[in-house]
Amino acid sequence: MKKHNFSAGPSILAKEVIENTANAVRDLNGIGLSVMELSHRGKDFQAVMDETVALFRELLDIPGNYHVLFLGGGASLQFCMLPFNLLVTKAAYLETGTWAKKAIKEAKGFGQVEVVASSADKNFNYIPRGFSIPDDADYFHITTNNTIFGTGIFEDYDSPVPVVADMSSDIFSRPLDVSKYGIIYGGAQKNLGPAGVTFVIIREELLGKTERYIPTMLNYQTHIDNGSMFNTPPCLPIYTCMETLRWLKKLGGVKVMQEMNQEKASMLYDEIDRNLLFRGTAVNDSRSVMNICFVMRPEYQDLEKEFLDFTVSRGMVGLKGHRSVGGFRASTYNAMPKESVQALIDAMQEFEKKHAK
Ligand SMILES: *Cc1c(COP(=O)(O)O)cnc(C)c1O
Repeated sequence: MKKHNFSAGPSILAKEVIENTANAVRDLNGIGLSVMELSHRGKDFQAVMDETVALFRELLDIPGNYHVLFLGGGASLQFCMLPFNLLVTKAAYLETGTWAKKAIKEAKGFGQVEVVASSADKNFNYIPRGFSIPDDADYFHITTNNTIFGTGIFEDYDSPVPVVADMSSDIFSRPLDVSKYGIIYGGAQKNLGPAGVTFVIIREELLGKTERYIPTMLNYQTHIDNGSMFNTPPCLPIYTCMETLRWLKKLGGVKVMQEMNQEKASMLYDEIDRNLLFRGTAVNDSRSVMNICFVMRPEYQDLEKEFLDFTVSRGMVGLKGHRSVGGFRASTYNAMPKESVQALIDAMQEFEKKHAK
């Protein structure tokens, strides 16, 4: 039986996406070749690349002056590629968790970094508000969903400088006003596809400002000029992303996805708030709809391992919280069915009946 997959990443993909990918691995569209053994420059793979870019544009309503790139190296390579290309004198960063900290560390190698606000004082359990973005920064970097701490930003910020967003774990979870961003990037392996491909949505006008030498492979312009085919792109992961976007479009697009995600998240948060054994870790107005973090209440702390084992015995995987938060983390990405969330809620209620004093 298929497991209820709550993993934070690589994470759940829709069943039909996995099946369609398996078919294309055997034989792509009946051409007698696997999608893994094609020239990336041939027409069959070009069609995959073109459709994936077109679906990105259509589903996120991306304006014409933006490019959509597929690169290697993960979101982690973007932490340095970004300042390499964009940081001339100073960059502003919002510090909302481990990934933001890693991005900040890399930027410091290229210029001055101003951290406009941080939630480090409360172990990143909230999104800072009321900060101001310096208008002399080259860009302002945010992490829209903090995968580890379970917090999220749900608005497209107004900013005097280009906003650059790491959307690794919430891309395609809600509609976006892409025109409010300079760059949106992320690893595919949370909400979009398998590991191995990184998407970058970029407004071309941002480039060409720094005088420094940028190695060819780390220069966004290289990949823009070559339609993500300067070198061999991660063909198979791109194929799976395309299948996910076809699936997403069929379901009704990002607006429908947002409603489904909100429904799943409220079901689970309501149970966390009601259940006598558990409590949520993120403050209410910052709660992520993708990664739902919770812990045992102090008086039930010693039941943590037992609850995890209980969920495993019921076919659930990936619920162990990240070591920096502890407790549990239920990742409820786009592909997670409501039934899996309900299975977790049922387990929490049963465990409560057994253990609540
Ligand atoms: C997982 C994750 C990353 C790291 O992605 P890699 O592709 O492994 O480099 C960066 N940022 C966020 C928000 C993530 O969730």
